[in-house]
Amino acid sequence: MQDKVVFVSVSGGKDSTLCLALALEKYRGTGTPVVALFCDTGWEHELTYRYIETLEEFFSIKIHKLVGIPLPELIKKKKIFPSPRRRFCTRSCKTVPTYKFYESIYFSFPFKVAEVWQGIRRDESISRRRTEEYTLQPFQKTRYGESFPFALSYRYPILNLTEKEVFKELEKRGIPINPLYQQGFKRVGCYPCFLSKKDIIQVIQRALEGDRFASKRLGEMQLLDNSVQGRLHIDYSLKELIEKAKKKHELSKRMLTLPFVEV
Ligand code: SF4
Repeated sequence: MQDKVVFVSVSGGKDSTLCLALALEKYRGTGTPVVALFCDTGWEHELTYRYIETLEEFFSIKIHKLVGIPLPELIKKKKIFPSPRRRFCTRSCKTVPTYKFYESIYFSFPFKVAEVWQGIRRDESISRRRTEEYTLQPFQKTRYGESFPFALSYRYPILNLTEKEVFKELEKRGIPINPLYQQGFKRVGCYPCFLSKKDIIQVIQRALEGDRFASKRLGEMQLLDNSVQGRLHIDYSLKELIEKAKKKHELSKRMLTLPFVEV
C-alpha cells in the first residue's frame, strides 16, 4: 500500500496554482504521487477552462476534471439560489465530487494518507485568520459526517502569504496566471458567485459594456431567475440589480457626451 497521496484542488485562481507548484516541487520524482483536480461547477468563466488546460501543459500533468451536478441544474432543481445560509452549491459541486474522487483513487490505488493541499490564506478573511492544519484519522467523521478508510491530512502551504507575495512567487517561477486577473478580476471561481453581490453587479456591468461572455451569462442568470421561486437575495432581486446598473450606465454615458466647459 502507498503511504501517501497528495491531492491539490486547482480552481484556476492564483492561490491554488501556487499550491500545485509547491506540491510538485516537493514531491515530483519522490514516489509520492501528486494528483491535481479541478471541480467544474458548470458555472466557470470560459477563460478559466482554457487556463486549466494551460496549467496542464505548463506543469506537464493531468488535471482531473470533476463534474457533479452543474450549478444551474442544481438551482433549477432546488428552485432557490444558494446563499450564505444555504450553501448547497459548495457541497454538491465541490465537496461531494472531491470525496468521491479520493475514494475512487483509493480503491484502485490504496494509500494510508490523503494529504490535501489547499490555497487558504490567513489574510483573506477574518474567519480564515485562525485556520490551522489538521488531520482526520481513518474512519473519523468529517464535519459533513463522511468517513474514509484513509487519513485525511489538511495542509495549507501558503497560509501566511499575502496576495502580493503569491503573485510574486508565481512570477518568480514563470507560471502563467489566469487572464481574468489582467482584466481586473479580484477572484476566480463561479462566474458569478451567487453569494457575492459585487460579483453579480460586475457581470451586469460588463454585459452592459458589451462583454460577450458576460452578456451570455447574464441571459442565463435571467432564465434561472424566472425558474426560481425566491429572490436572488433577501435584500435585492436580479431585476433590481439590473435596473440600478442600467441607470448608472446611462448616467456615465451621458456624462461622457457632455460638452467640455472651461472654467
Ligand atoms: S463560488 Fe460561490 S456559487 Fe460557486 S460554489 Fe462557491 S459559494 Fe457556491
